[in-house]
Amino acid sequence: MYLPLIRLMAAVLLVACSAAQAQAGQEKTLIIGIDGVQLSQYERLGPDANLHRLSYAKAYAGGVIGKPTQQPTLSGPSWITLLTGVWADKHGVMSNDAQWRLDPRYPSVLKRLRQARPDAHIASVVNWSPINSAFLADEVAAFDVVESGLSDDRVVERVTAILSSTPADLTFAHLDEPDSVAHEYCFGDAYQTALANSDRRLGMLLDQVQARQQRLPKERWLVLLTTDHGRDPAGCGHGGQSESEKTVFIAANQSLNAELTDPRPPADNPGPNGLYGYAAQTSLAPTVLRHMNLEPRRAWLLEGSPLLGATGVRKLRVDEASHQLRWFSEASTRVQIFRNGRRVAQPEAARQVWTDPDTMAGVNDYVVELDDTPVAVRNAAAPSERAKTPSDDAGR
Ligand SMILES: [Zn+2]
Repeated sequence: MYLPLIRLMAAVLLVACSAAQAQAGQEKTLIIGIDGVQLSQYERLGPDANLHRLSYAKAYAGGVIGKPTQQPTLSGPSWITLLTGVWADKHGVMSNDAQWRLDPRYPSVLKRLRQARPDAHIASVVNWSPINSAFLADEVAAFDVVESGLSDDRVVERVTAILSSTPADLTFAHLDEPDSVAHEYCFGDAYQTALANSDRRLGMLLDQVQARQQRLPKERWLVLLTTDHGRDPAGCGHGGQSESEKTVFIAANQSLNAELTDPRPPADNPGPNGLYGYAAQTSLAPTVLRHMNLEPRRAWLLEGSPLLGATGVRKLRVDEASHQLRWFSEASTRVQIFRNGRRVAQPEAARQVWTDPDTMAGVNDYVVELDDTPVAVRNAAAPSERAKTPSDDAGR
């Protein structure tokens, strides 16, 4: 007698739940970060690896050598660059020291989604604790799920639970095995086993997303896979600016734009072996924001071209000696150039260069906007101006 009533109530509940979910937004993102993966070693797992369920390309970590963006290829600075879309000279996490906190002027994508959508389900589930307990410590109170210090298997279990029973709007999952194994054994059999284990965990997470998509076909899922830094040529350590340490990758479950797939090494500064022709690590955050319908804004000063939709200008850079901004673009329209928030010029995009008539005195935040897509860059102070302030890097 009660059974039909229970069924009716269940049906009503189900309808109410799906209505709430539709309201909450159908764009979903899962960011999977695997610590310390050298792409060339990962590819040695062969064509059956779960990596090949995604499209991917090389990217670079560690900023640009000799520029204000140069940062150590360490976990703390790198993960926070991936999650904010700016280099450490802006986000402020300069090393793995637990004293560092993210500069609140450059919040993570998790915090930005919270600011835009108080109802969004936001999770950060990490093996390496300092991401949550130190660098994002001032943000995590705003997240729905914050788990730190879990084993990789527990990270997968926890994220599986999130994917199966919550709105799961934005989830960051951090796995650590390749990095910790390589610190002990360098490249070799143990590292390959660690990569195979991580790839199996990747496969489990991709299966979970697929199952959810079948269950909830209206949802639009972006799954991103990346790593924080490469390794030195022997695989043992990292932190420096060698090509292998700076080489990372970005993979996705959908095809991304030319900034990822069509490398354009700048002729005046191609980087080690043309590495700066690939996407910067700063491109991950604007990609996530755009997918989540949070269009990157000029005031955010994000330093990467998004990898979904319009790229904006690509390879934006400063040549302080000639007071020039340079970029790559084949667009037939004009760009808008802003200096410290004020529009100062509208040159043709295809010129790919603009000289600041005010000679870049001091430190300036430039934004070049094309196709409603802003990309930012900050010039270095002239050596004479730098000498006026004592270096805060002394002794570190
Ligand atoms: Zn790391």
